[in-house]
Order: sequence, then C-alpha cells, then structure tokens
Amino acid sequence: MLSNTQSETNATDLAYHLHSQTNPQALSREGAYIVVKGDGTHVIDENGKRYIDAMAGLWCASLGFNNQRLGRAAATQYEELGYYHSFYGRTNPKAANLSKKLVELTGMAGGKTFFVTSGSEANETMVKLAWLYHASRGKPTKRKIIARDRAFHGSTIVAGSMCGLEMMHREFGLPLPGFIHTLCPNNYRVRLPGESEAEFVSRLAGELERMILREGPDTIAAFIAEPVIAGGGIIPPPAGYFEAVQKVLAKYDILCLDDEVVCGFGRTGNWFGRETVGMTPDMMSLAKGITSSYFPLAAVVVSPKILEAVERYNESGTSFGHGFTNAAHPVGAAVAAETIAIYEELDIVPHVRKIGARLHQKLAEVTKDSPIVGNLRGVGLMYGVELVEDPSTGTPFAPARQIGARLAAIAYENGLVVRAMRDTVGFCPPLIIDDNDVEEIGAKLQKALRETEKAVQAKSI
Ligand code: PMP
Repeated sequence: MLSNTQSETNATDLAYHLHSQTNPQALSREGAYIVVKGDGTHVIDENGKRYIDAMAGLWCASLGFNNQRLGRAAATQYEELGYYHSFYGRTNPKAANLSKKLVELTGMAGGKTFFVTSGSEANETMVKLAWLYHASRGKPTKRKIIARDRAFHGSTIVAGSMCGLEMMHREFGLPLPGFIHTLCPNNYRVRLPGESEAEFVSRLAGELERMILREGPDTIAAFIAEPVIAGGGIIPPPAGYFEAVQKVLAKYDILCLDDEVVCGFGRTGNWFGRETVGMTPDMMSLAKGITSSYFPLAAVVVSPKILEAVERYNESGTSFGHGFTNAAHPVGAAVAAETIAIYEELDIVPHVRKIGARLHQKLAEVTKDSPIVGNLRGVGLMYGVELVEDPSTGTPFAPARQIGARLAAIAYENGLVVRAMRDTVGFCPPLIIDDNDVEEIGAKLQKALRETEKAVQAKSI
C-alpha cells in the first residue's frame, strides 16, 4: 500500500504539502501515493507499479491521463495568447467559440455561458444568479437554497453549505443559514419497505413541498441537484423523480439548478445527466469532463429566462458584479474545445452506453454471490457497490469498521483505484475504457472483494 515512504518526494511532500480530504496521521504513517505518469486509463507510481484508475482521478479525467492532443492544444494556445480575461467586455476567440459550443451542446437555446475555474465556483455563481434573478423581478426575499442529503456541490463556503454531507460541515459551522436540505432520493436506503418507486417519488415531492410551505415560498430562491448523486455514494434517482420535483418548484416560482460537474460530458450515457433523468433546469454548472481536467476551466450555462433578468437588471448602467481572474482563459478554452472535439470524434455517448453496460454486467457478475454486497447501482459509466453486514436485510456495517475504505486499500494494492464513500465503493472510470479495461477492473475487484470477505469473516476488520 505504501508508495515509497523512503522516497525524497514523499519526505518533501510530508513536510510541506497540506493535502485535501486526507487524514494527516494516516498520511504520515502510510506515505503518499506518488503518481508520476499516465498511460491512457492507467497511472504509474514512483516505483513503476501500474494501476487502472477506475475513478478517472476525481471523476474527471475522461480521456485518461496522458492525452497528447490536449497537451498540444494547450501548447499551441500558450504560444499564441497565454492569458486574457473576461472583465469589462474583454474576450478571446477561443472563449467566444467555446461559449457558443456549450450553449449548443447543453440545449440551452437562447442562453449564454459564464466561465469560472472550478465546480465550486460554478455552483456559487448559480446561487448568485438565482438571487439576482429574483431580485430583478421584485422578489428580493427569495434567497434560500434547497439541496439534498448526500449531495456534493463543492468546498467553498456556499458550495459546502449546499453539500448534504456532515464531513463538509462539521469543522466549519456550516451550512450557512438559508441553505437547507431535503431527502435524498436513494432507492436502497431511503425508500421504505413495501413502498413502490412511484409512492417513493410522491413522498419525496410531498416532503419537498412541505419544506417549502414551512419555510415560506417567498423565501426560497432555488433547488440544486446533481442528476445522479456522485460523491454522496452514486445515487441515481427513482424514475419520475425530477418530473415530480419540478412540478413542485414551478408551483412556487423556485429555480432548478443542475450540477453537471460529474454527470456532464457523457458520463451518464447522454451528453448531460439531465437528459438521463428528465430534468429541465434553469442553469447548469459544468466542470471536470469539460477539459478532462487537463485545465481548471468550468462554466455555468444559463437559460434565456435568467439571462433576460441579468441583462434587464444591469440596464441602468450597473455591471454584473461577479467574476474570476482566470475565467474564460484562452488556454483552458482551447483545451476544452479539443476535449469536446475528441468526444465527438470518438462518438463518446454511444461508447459510454455500450462499455457502461459491459462494466455493469461485469460488476454484477463479480458481486452477485458476495456475502457483503447489498446493492449495485448506477448508469452509464458511474456505478456504486454498497457493502453491507447482511445483504438480506441491508443492515450496514458499523461505520468504525471502515469496510469500504478497507476494500479500496486492498484494491489499490492489487493495482485498482476505486473510491470508498462510506461503504459504497465507486467506479467512474475514464470514458475511453475498453473491453480489456473492464476485464481488468472485474478481475482486480474480484480479488479485492474476496480478500475483504475473508477479513470480514475472520473479524480482522
Ligand atoms: N459538484 C460536484 C457534483 C462535484 O462532484 C464536485 C467535485 N467533486 C464539485 C461540484 C466541486 O468541483 P470543484 O472541486 O472543481 O470545485
């Protein structure tokens, strides 16, 4: 499991690098995982060991880890124009063309693109635009945001407040007032025994409506959702969920914000997750797959309804008081354009459907007789395997046993990178995976799962 605790990189890293989402004690005990090279869907560590990264890094490196065309697109653009910004009406041709491409791809006819540099910034931007939208229509009290339990929307203070995960709130006194959470549409954990999927959906919509009435509809600005919850444990919604939710939102003049940071750009087997789940949002946040994470570029695509409000609001000569130094970066825009061109050349959507079905079948095959697998769920190329104490009842393992983390660690030793979200193990590989990759993921998972089952049986974990 150790990358190389003796290495110079590890010593320097340990001394100077404060890591994201990392336990410092575990890091100093085990050493960092030092990745030095990419090879398509695989990464190679300091010692030359190869891993298939079945999480595409952080659900983002959709074209794998060393795509040469993206490097060349960046290099060419650096030589031409290495920086310009988007304040005070400035632009560059790459950003202008990309803004058009994104409006076309997302189907936001008549809309526009606002550029940012991360998913968190994109989500915060949607919140500001929602506030501005309501204020411009004489409804400045509509400010609260409804998110969901188990949602992930980013790490900045507002994005973190919209997360429905305790670990994003605990040390920081979050969520901020006015950021509230409704039920997670989890078919496996939140749907009641004996409840049909349709009954579950109407209970979720009913709960949402009760929350809106309790808080006061004139205080609520927007509802934010990932089409398929990613970091909260890979949770696709029940059929008809967004249709039911959007009926409630429309009734109370509440905007629908679509966080496509993970689901966008083919991940769910459509260009955008909203198509997969039947959502018709007012704004969409895009990041990660937009550049296959080869450049920190992200965006919000807004519908004409929002646009009109922003433009009307600023008619008096005021400006939209929001923006980031590195947004609309020409190099990021060039890399995004090349990424999207490659997706189109690879016909990525049908590919994801086909290879995603194979991955699903393989995961089903490997997990079907496991005494510790309770649920396999997902769509496209995002799947979760939930580990449980008793599959017949769904009884979870005691959290302190950290069974999911243990399986992920064993998988890592076997050359497979997966992610444990509590006891759900996530698979979200680069979109370019092929049959051999699926076989490799399956074989390595099988080995890791059998070892974990043995350790569970022996009560060594
Ligand atoms: N939304 C979702 C659904 C995410 O998964 C993430 C990051 N994993 C974010 C937003 C935040 O993106 P970033 O880390 O680029 O700020």
